Amino acid sequence: MNPSDLPLGLVREALPDQLQDAQTLRAAVHALVEGPLRQQAEAIDRGLYPKDILQSLAAAGAMSAHLEAPVGHSDFALCIDAMAEASAVCGATGFMMWCHAVCGLYMQQSGNPALTHQALQDHATGLRLGGTAMSNPMKSYAQIEGLLLKATPVADGFIVNGNLPWVSNLGTDHYCGALAGVDATDNAAAYELMFMVRCDAPGVELHHCPSFSGMEGTGTYALRLKNYHVGADDLIAAPCKPYIARIRAAFILLQCGMGLGVTQGAIDSMWQVEPQLGHVNQFLEDRPADLQAELDALKTRIHLLAHTPYCPDTSYLLDVLDARAHCSEISLRAAQSALMHQGARGYLLSSAVQRRVRESHFVAIVTPAIKHLRKEIARLSAEIMPA
Ligand SMILES: Cc1cc2nc3c(=O)[nH]c(=O)nc-3n(C[C@H](O)[C@H](O)[C@H](O)COP(=O)(O)OP(=O)(O)OC[C@H]3O[C@@H](n4cnc5c(N)ncnc54)[C@H](O)[C@@H]3O)c2cc1C
Repeated sequence: MNPSDLPLGLVREALPDQLQDAQTLRAAVHALVEGPLRQQAEAIDRGLYPKDILQSLAAAGAMSAHLEAPVGHSDFALCIDAMAEASAVCGATGFMMWCHAVCGLYMQQSGNPALTHQALQDHATGLRLGGTAMSNPMKSYAQIEGLLLKATPVADGFIVNGNLPWVSNLGTDHYCGALAGVDATDNAAAYELMFMVRCDAPGVELHHCPSFSGMEGTGTYALRLKNYHVGADDLIAAPCKPYIARIRAAFILLQCGMGLGVTQGAIDSMWQVEPQLGHVNQFLEDRPADLQAELDALKTRIHLLAHTPYCPDTSYLLDVLDARAHCSEISLRAAQSALMHQGARGYLLSSAVQRRVRESHFVAIVTPAIKHLRKEIARLSAEIMPA
């Protein structure tokens, strides 16, 4: 018998601690997703920020399983699976789980005691929530756009100024990881620093964004920093290029949970109409059994990559970029095909099927967007195998 077929009580006796914890976590996530999250998914799409659900998911360990002990188990696959389970029902919540999970990773990998002890414990358990303002730096490192935040060194830290157009999973008592550039001087070369932005601190403004076509409940704001002071307690890394190089694959790999889940949700909705519409849906491409086989193979590949999230090899990073791009491509195809399978019922404004089309668009445009991934894949491939 497979351990997942056992009643929970039996599993507790039969499995070592870490597997017991994983079973308990999966069961808790499943209950939250099938209960409150499924019930609120439509409201979240229209703008409800599901703070209580996010905090419950965090309290269950869903956004900290990837962190190192004592807060987590270094289990990236478990964190990705939890995100995927939520994303199958609500892509917006899956995305916010990633925001929070990757923010925890920034904190832990900083090695800064002010961010790794009680602060990380509070983050891991969902007492405090956080996000990531790293799209612009990631695009800047890929030479897609310039850095939008500028830092000036001062005696007790840095003063940061600049605006970021979109940062999610924010609120007045939230925080996020961000990056700013320090210009070169006569005596020093230019460098970048990574730091925490505390939304309730002086110099921080959150502004409402124009309406999006989806992801409205993601607590997404324009973030403005005016003479924002960064002290030693909020420093993640300075200079931060080696730090970014270390966490980059982990950052991208964790996002796969969103793509896997949105795709699974789309496949599930195709099966829902198979009894009535299978006789005609059989003439469509991207049928659910085919997509499921492709998705299962992709998930297995991601689980393998999840064993070594900090591997420094370029070939590993290339594999992660390729898997992440595959997540975007399959979500787009699956969501589109689900709409073709469901027809008019999937076109209703209240239908999860049309919502998922918009969520799949987000999977494909959020940094790293498909175009960004392909640019990086081309650059790294040329590095490994020059023409
Ligand atoms: C709902 C939502 C949530 C997001 N959450 C986060 C987050 O939590 N953290 C984070 O760091 N990023 C976040 N982003 C940004 C996201 O990750 C991408 O950076 C963004 O979608 C654009 O990526 P792109 O690579 O397609 O760039 P493009 O859209 O191709 O942009 C290229 C250039 O065009 C400019 N541009 C794009 N749109 C406009 C516009 N309307 N007006 C003027 N200039 C424009 C950009 O500034 C950029 O320089 C979010 C975006 C959305 C829509």
